[in-house]
Amino acid sequence: MTLSWTEQASDGAARAGTLRTAHGDVATPVFMPVGTAGTVKAMLPDAVRATGARLILGNTYHLMLRPGADRVERLGGLHKMMDWPGPILTDSGGFQVMSLSGLRKLDADGVTFQSHIDGSRHRLTPQSSIEIQHKLDATITMAFDECTPFPATEAEARASMELSMRWAARSRDAFVPRPGYGLFGIVQGSVFPALRASSAAALIGIGFEGYAIGGLAVGEGQAMMFDVLDDTVPALPATAPRYLMGVGTPDDLLGAVQRGVDMFDCVIPTRAGRTARAYTSRGVFNLRNARFADDTGPLDPACACPTCTRHAVGYLHHLFRCEEILGPMLLTWHNIFYYQTIMKELRSAISTSTLSQRAASLRAGWAEIAEHG
Ligand SMILES: [Zn+2]
Repeated sequence: MTLSWTEQASDGAARAGTLRTAHGDVATPVFMPVGTAGTVKAMLPDAVRATGARLILGNTYHLMLRPGADRVERLGGLHKMMDWPGPILTDSGGFQVMSLSGLRKLDADGVTFQSHIDGSRHRLTPQSSIEIQHKLDATITMAFDECTPFPATEAEARASMELSMRWAARSRDAFVPRPGYGLFGIVQGSVFPALRASSAAALIGIGFEGYAIGGLAVGEGQAMMFDVLDDTVPALPATAPRYLMGVGTPDDLLGAVQRGVDMFDCVIPTRAGRTARAYTSRGVFNLRNARFADDTGPLDPACACPTCTRHAVGYLHHLFRCEEILGPMLLTWHNIFYYQTIMKELRSAISTSTLSQRAASLRAGWAEIAEHG
């Protein structure tokens, strides 16, 4: 039996459920911390687990360049190499080829590109991307697609989406089914409802264990992203997990969960953790700000993470001012813990049909710093 998802409760369009995988169960809605190059930056694997995270993401593009898919395989696969026995989702590499690599050339069969590290030439096709993700031992493999650049004309978005749908079929053919493993297709179509609908229908025709919505959070803004979700989510199967790729801020996650999305990944909590930006129940703030130097209180009084329960904000400010490595470690722990806390609260609110009340109180909290900070 491949990976499966079952719904336990719903509240409006939002759903709470369980993803069953070869590497354990995951309660949804779920946020995946990003473990780009075989590590969630600045976090020990035990610390990642202690935040409540159960599913993490790895990047095919980074791992195929360093240390290389064959080497990851010889090191026992991503789970063993990272000491992360839980499920891991890997992206297909396509998005980062377009955003990070130097010279690149797209053709009907794939993309040839130069590594951003040493300029060496590489090629990714639907077949090779799926094969690399197999070697990495990804629990959830993503179909190889082209993330349509934004903005795009409707004609450009259609051509790009149709290419991705041909690649989705090739990805399906290349994927080797194993018990508890799965392949997700990716809906493209930019901001054009008819293209999104046609992409969703094409993917359903091929058949996947889950359905991702790609090509968002690329500069279109939250309102337009939510419009696309309003059009796209109802076109996806009710029995499969839905994954919004590369999103987002706490407010983005909340709005997307309310629209029926189950899975998310984003570098925000980890990247912000390394750059002194704290995501809290009272909004976002920068710990380098001098006003925190004498602050004896916790970073977030409502948070139960070790950073908030053991240290004063003044100490965190000091660590970042001195560029001590512990600063990014403690703040990344808090940020991921806070993201996991939000998801837990949303799952509980969906199960008790109190999501709209919970959403209002979360939003009121996030506005506090912006309004009174
Ligand atoms: Zn905390």
